[in-house]
Amino acid sequence: MALPELFRHRDLFVGCLAISRTPRRRSGERLRVGRVDHVLSASDAAACDTLGETLLHGAGNRHGVFFNLVAQGYDYPSLARCPALQEDGLCAIHASGKPLQCAVVPLDPLLPDSLQHLALAGRSIGAAYIGAECIQAGERSGMATLVGDGEIHDAAAREVIAHRRWMLAQEHELWGRAVFASLRRELFDAQDVLGRIPADGFLSISIAPALLAVAGVSERCRQLSLTYIDSQLALIEKKIAQALLRRRLDERPHSRELRGFSEAYLRARAALVSASPPQTMPMAAAQRFEAYLAA
Ligand code: SF4
Repeated sequence: MALPELFRHRDLFVGCLAISRTPRRRSGERLRVGRVDHVLSASDAAACDTLGETLLHGAGNRHGVFFNLVAQGYDYPSLARCPALQEDGLCAIHASGKPLQCAVVPLDPLLPDSLQHLALAGRSIGAAYIGAECIQAGERSGMATLVGDGEIHDAAAREVIAHRRWMLAQEHELWGRAVFASLRRELFDAQDVLGRIPADGFLSISIAPALLAVAGVSERCRQLSLTYIDSQLALIEKKIAQALLRRRLDERPHSRELRGFSEAYLRARAALVSASPPQTMPMAAAQRFEAYLAA
């Protein structure tokens, strides 16, 4: 999720930052996903690099990976469902600002268009798609082709993936670079960083550093961050109280993680109430981000 989406749905999703890594791609590298085999061309590798340098972090580091730093909704894994999923199987926020990442599925905004068939191949063998058979290779009568010949054929899908990449670029500029720099010594430059960030998963941390960066944009952004923090503190209390009623031992580490988020929110709140952070942007950029956050 992007920050404007978390701000809008602040009483539904607990926000966090998710840190993952992706290897830097090389021309001639062979990628195999299920039954799909693809040897990367020079232009595939260059397109991966372009996306990595625009939307990810740490280009050129000694680990040979890009780091991805995104805002995300957090919940108890034992619930195994999105907080917006209704009992009837529909999305409660479909008409009121469904996250763009949900609209992008089954495509992947962090892969170039020429490699979207690999995203589809990966999803088609994923646990969530078993039995659905809604992703099929080749043409089917009565069905539109989503991707083919290295392009996204569907105009609506092209538009939504472009919009999601644009949002990721806004997040990168608004808070991503500042948070990456603040965690650089402690995490990203550390010898054991690859051990701390799983190859096929992510590391969750508090979203507070992103809010502190946002609050430095303008007074309006500081107020938006404070409003968000207050809603999140109440939501986390509610989620922990519900978990206590479920009495599940496997939920305890996640309750501890949520308490850690609350503590980080309280520290960020105290810092933002006691002093306005130094303004970090020229007026025109600040107004652009205020509009982005309120959109
Ligand atoms: S589309 Fe699904 S995953 Fe996305 S917010 Fe709605 S219920 Fe949650």
